[in-house]
Amino acid sequence: MRSRSLTLLACPFVLAAPWASAQVAKDAAALLKSLDKLQTVGSVLYVAAHPDDENTAVLATLSKGRNLRTAYLALTRGGGGQNLIGSELDEGLAAIRTQELLAARRIDGAEQFFSRAVDFGFSKTADETLSFWGKDAVLGDVVRTIRTFRPDVILTRFPPDARAGHGHHTASAMLAIEAFKAAADPTRFPEQISAGLRPWQAKRLLWNHFRFSEDAPKPAPGSLTLEVGAFDPILGTSFGELAAESRSQHRSQGFGVLSQRGSRLESFELLAGEAAKSDLFEGVDLSWARVPGAATLASRLKQARAAFHPDRPSAVLPLLLEAQADFAALPASSQADPLVKAKATELQEAIRAAAGLWVEALAERQSLAPGDRLTFAATVLARGGAPLQLNALTLEVVRPEGVTEVSKRTLQSALEDNSPRKETFAVEVPADMPLSQPHWLGGTGEAVWAGLPENPNPFRLRATLALGTRTFEVMVPVQYRFRDPVLGERYQPLVVVPPVLVTPVERVAVFGDAASQDVRFKVVAGAAAASGQLRFKVPVGWKAEPAVLPFQFSKAGEEKTFTARLTPPLQPSSGNLQVDVDAGQGFVSAHGIQRLDYPHIPLQTLLPLTQMRLARFELHHNGRRIGYVMGAGDEIPQSLRRIGYEVELLSDEALASSDLSRFDAIVLGIRAFNTRAALVSLKQRLHEYVAQGGTEVVLYTVNTGFPGINAGMVTEAIGPYPFKVSRNRVTDEHAEVRFLLPDHPALNWPNKLTAADFDGWVQERGLYHAEGWDAHYKPVFVMHDPGEKADEGSLIVAEHGKGRYVYTGLAFFRQLPEGVPGAYRLFANLLALGHAHD
Ligand SMILES: [Zn+2]
Repeated sequence: MRSRSLTLLACPFVLAAPWASAQVAKDAAALLKSLDKLQTVGSVLYVAAHPDDENTAVLATLSKGRNLRTAYLALTRGGGGQNLIGSELDEGLAAIRTQELLAARRIDGAEQFFSRAVDFGFSKTADETLSFWGKDAVLGDVVRTIRTFRPDVILTRFPPDARAGHGHHTASAMLAIEAFKAAADPTRFPEQISAGLRPWQAKRLLWNHFRFSEDAPKPAPGSLTLEVGAFDPILGTSFGELAAESRSQHRSQGFGVLSQRGSRLESFELLAGEAAKSDLFEGVDLSWARVPGAATLASRLKQARAAFHPDRPSAVLPLLLEAQADFAALPASSQADPLVKAKATELQEAIRAAAGLWVEALAERQSLAPGDRLTFAATVLARGGAPLQLNALTLEVVRPEGVTEVSKRTLQSALEDNSPRKETFAVEVPADMPLSQPHWLGGTGEAVWAGLPENPNPFRLRATLALGTRTFEVMVPVQYRFRDPVLGERYQPLVVVPPVLVTPVERVAVFGDAASQDVRFKVVAGAAAASGQLRFKVPVGWKAEPAVLPFQFSKAGEEKTFTARLTPPLQPSSGNLQVDVDAGQGFVSAHGIQRLDYPHIPLQTLLPLTQMRLARFELHHNGRRIGYVMGAGDEIPQSLRRIGYEVELLSDEALASSDLSRFDAIVLGIRAFNTRAALVSLKQRLHEYVAQGGTEVVLYTVNTGFPGINAGMVTEAIGPYPFKVSRNRVTDEHAEVRFLLPDHPALNWPNKLTAADFDGWVQERGLYHAEGWDAHYKPVFVMHDPGEKADEGSLIVAEHGKGRYVYTGLAFFRQLPEGVPGAYRLFANLLALGHAHD
């Protein structure tokens, strides 16, 4: 959500105004704030591992209180975590969290960067983390961020040792320390130097000591402190309040927090570089005096600040335009300084705000395909009372290789105050326009946009204006706008999609025997008119019929469902089905579409290659009707339906009053005991159902580990007999699984399980395992992570009356949607426990 001008494209880290959201209408106080910020020339980089690691009180204080250019480098995008607002995992979740970070940054005023490191889930050691990430590649990314951003001071959230807890956390601090030195050494990552970056030595690197509880260890003597609870009269709020608002954007993690008001100190321990006695920035010149040749500019900016009057902001416009000329007159070496470039962009935005300008460019559709003809409507509205002239409007295309002009209109006419000037552009989307798949998910632009949160918007409008003899520019992304009856005016980022999109209705097709199954694909026209054919590609031994499917659409957005009949081989087999599409240009790999639509972030569109995972294995099940109590959200009901179960989602009402005996088993989805308050009383009815011969399977629930009522659970007593939910997990998905009760029906009926059923699991074995269980429970498996003690709490079963109760931390919510055979076979056995006779 950042824009950048043509000349700055070579340096992807110089960014300013929002890309995908509406432009921010600045009030006089916000403009005053940005005039203050223009007086300060300094920067700070905060480094940690995940979305939510960052200390938003520190970021808000440094960015909006100390007026420093501030950025957060999150090594990962957080795709390995759990999702509290929807069912997306992995890439989808990483895309949501990227946007949540950007939403947070819009509040605390910092910028956002990433490395290529992937969040692969909980890691117990930094060694495991670094070997999984590829230490050199990620270190190179941190070094590149430092060399491009050139921070005066670097802060880490974590210490470089086991106190950091999560292996990703420890690794983030270790990498920051190494990069602090390596960035200054031209012999390290010399390819970055040949590409035009210069070595950079930050002054110091400090650890932002954490104190999550009152009894945590006190900061070491000699630590520096920073007041993060100050009140800012211009903002009308304190940095602590801003911090809470910023942090509460992490909705997918359920990190809504309460505001902290009043004085609060953060402390910092030196990890590298020069020691300081009293301030994080001691010995760093944070004024324009550090920039050679900037004396005139500095005094002009000071004058503008002094001349500012909130009831007539445009009065400072002439001074700001002089300052823009002063920028242009700086020596080339000063202009090349990224900090100076960032200031120039800040000034551009201050000029727009002081002029009271609203510039907008809207497309008639949210998605376009290469070759489409399309109309864009531009509006320029001046509301500042200054005698402005609109010289030109230019529509530009942004591609990884650069920015090109597609249409320019020369206007040279006066802008009447508060009277919208509208122009429309009819243009053709270039045939070679790259698709809007995010660069970090294999889309084009990876090399140019590496480190940036998202791709720039594919189209933008450049308005050239003048006041007297001084010209200036305002650039805005082209967006799509619509009326949402509930939320009102909504803006969405524009995306470029292929002429036809092919999305499997199910990501995975599971075959429990050799019978054929129909699989469905949603086919959507991306272009205004699309016709051609689809071709299925299946692994050896599989058959898809028909092999080729023709399609014809008459308008963009038109949707059809196509069915193909898949026949698996006789023997167990797995692989991927892919689709080629020919829309008149020959066969190419098809892309599907995934939209992530949440009210707190801009609409996200992912365009993954069309792929369906195929798994053929021997699966027997007994009992068909399953009741499902959805917790925080998982895809297990769809997975069960795929293999022939009838799954009914149960409301609190249905749990309370309907006849449960109709179910062969009732499953409580992930985190049901975190999210369904009614279970405090309704669990009783479930236990009675078990006593009458039913089967209750409870999937993991989170024990926050933080002091508080029931550690985040609606009740801690979740089973018919006592046990505790621990924070134990087995994160190694290859960890050996031994059977404690080889004759138990869960391991034998109707599917006879062997060690092979634990092959091919993804990400982890289990989390929030049981501990301290009552003697009624029997543990079924024992497993452990490398170097740790044996853990028997991944799955426990109790007989209760005539039925059985199961609690399991095994990560079925990850395995079943991925089509992992053994996980299906084990789950089918759990659902059949009520019919098993041992
Ligand atoms: Zn973290």
